[in-house]
Amino acid sequence: MSTKTASKKNGAVKFNTISQIFIGGKWKTAATAKTIEVRNPATLDLLGSVPNCTKEDVDAAVGAAKKAQRDWWKTPGVEKAAMLHEVARRIRAMEHELFTTLSLESGKPLWEAKDCIEWVAACFDYYAEVGRASHGNSIPPVAHHQVNFTIKEPYGVVAAIAPFNFPLLLMSWKVAPALAAGNTVVAKPPSPNPLSNLLLAKAYEALPPGVVNVITGSGSSAGELLINHPGVDLIAFTGSTEVGRHIASVAGQQLKKINLELGGIDPFIVCEDADLDIAVPGVAWARLLNAGQVCTSSKRIYVVRKIAEEFMRRVVQYVRTLKVGDPSDYTTDVGPMINESALNTVEDQVSRLLEKEKARILTGGRRIAPHGLKGWFLEPTVLGNVRHGGIATTEEIFGPVLALIAVKDVNEAIKLANDSEFGLGASIYTKNLEYAMRAMENIKAGTFWINDPLTDNDAGPFGGMRHSGVGRELGEEGLDAFREPKHVHLDYVMEKKNFWYPYSQRGDLKPKK
Ligand code: NAP
Ligand code: MG
Repeated sequence: MSTKTASKKNGAVKFNTISQIFIGGKWKTAATAKTIEVRNPATLDLLGSVPNCTKEDVDAAVGAAKKAQRDWWKTPGVEKAAMLHEVARRIRAMEHELFTTLSLESGKPLWEAKDCIEWVAACFDYYAEVGRASHGNSIPPVAHHQVNFTIKEPYGVVAAIAPFNFPLLLMSWKVAPALAAGNTVVAKPPSPNPLSNLLLAKAYEALPPGVVNVITGSGSSAGELLINHPGVDLIAFTGSTEVGRHIASVAGQQLKKINLELGGIDPFIVCEDADLDIAVPGVAWARLLNAGQVCTSSKRIYVVRKIAEEFMRRVVQYVRTLKVGDPSDYTTDVGPMINESALNTVEDQVSRLLEKEKARILTGGRRIAPHGLKGWFLEPTVLGNVRHGGIATTEEIFGPVLALIAVKDVNEAIKLANDSEFGLGASIYTKNLEYAMRAMENIKAGTFWINDPLTDNDAGPFGGMRHSGVGRELGEEGLDAFREPKHVHLDYVMEKKNFWYPYSQRGDLKPKK
């Protein structure tokens, strides 16, 4: 494997950048000399370069996956499970290297990056067990000498494509269940931060050659070649609704299977009875985690008017206590955004909100350079006087911007929360069970959090309703996304059978005179 070791001047941060791709169980130099630079979004330091893979590499990766698929599928479940557990063990063994790399290339604070790695390992452990335990159903036969059952078969080769905001975690939500179901995978990480996924491939060395292959490159070239490749049977994608729509149309033409996790503008309701000591940190977490670059972050906060002033005052106070800074500093809460264009987009959205919709900045709103860092930092921003139906509720603001909308009561909050083309997640803070259940029933969302937003559970399905996606990841549903049922009918009585309706009885069918 070709790697470059870099270290920070103070010696605190060490990482390896891998400049090769992983195909057929081997590290290979890509066919192309074209590369993509990877930079630290906090400092703009160059971390490394990865190949911008072309057709030759994509063909080789899909070919290796295809070659390995049947043997992998036929590997006994106990052995498959042992290998997936071994992948998890290796991930934990190189946890430090993985979370350091993830933090450096993504701008995630160290604690958040470490948390991601734990969830990635847990995902492989989870699907090792679930994949082994669940296979199909026995079905009631129509005659006593018949046996009917289903088995679940893999689709074949899965193209797994992940976004920049959780490049490793969301890749594991695809790779682990796809493997547990008997598929093989070609993984394409996002181009702003592909290094941790290449590092993760060291753990895939525990699997037979070709079972997982990792290529790099931009969505418009390597990604496009991969989704169009005739050897790919299923595309598992997380990313923007725009690219998701494009993938759905390509897959539609080729009748490929898809699983799409897309964008969201999630609502968050704060009722008049909410305990603000809990709800205020809750909303800041739900909106500012990963500098607001989370698909399920709470992008529209509906607060009941009676408590709105007090809530806003306390949110502002709380947000000002968060430490924005170098992700490599273990005291940092919020890091930079991923790149300049992401920051420009959010700044443009905020200025339109201020100028056209008369929103008010309650705190934040400026580009900052904590400790003189050159990266893409936006001060955590709280906006008041935001109106439903405007920019904050119709455009996905993918950055640290908390938009507060005052509403008359919980019923108005529920009505507005459900007034969206998206349906990814939704949250509520209340002690009133009736409010919580009424909101849950009336808001279209793949996940509904009550008094505990944005918490994960591998065993629970995750995904979006409406334009937020097609299908589900995680849970048993996330395993079924990667396999299809085959109905088996068996008649164990070997006797001659008249399939055709007996002539002796066809008299009934003659037209009645
Ligand atoms: P994106 O621009 O849609 O890209 C996602 C991935 O698709 C990247 O790996 C990208 O490669 C690749 N890609 C782009 N164009 C492609 C094409 N034509 N063919 C094949 N692959 C292509 O999304 P992003 O900016 O990375 O992530 C932010 C978005 O993801 C937000 O909208 C967010 O809401 C959504 N998201 C959804 C979920 C969910 O579970 N529902 C979770 C996280 C994020 P490049 O990096 O090279 O462009
Ligand atoms: Mg993008």
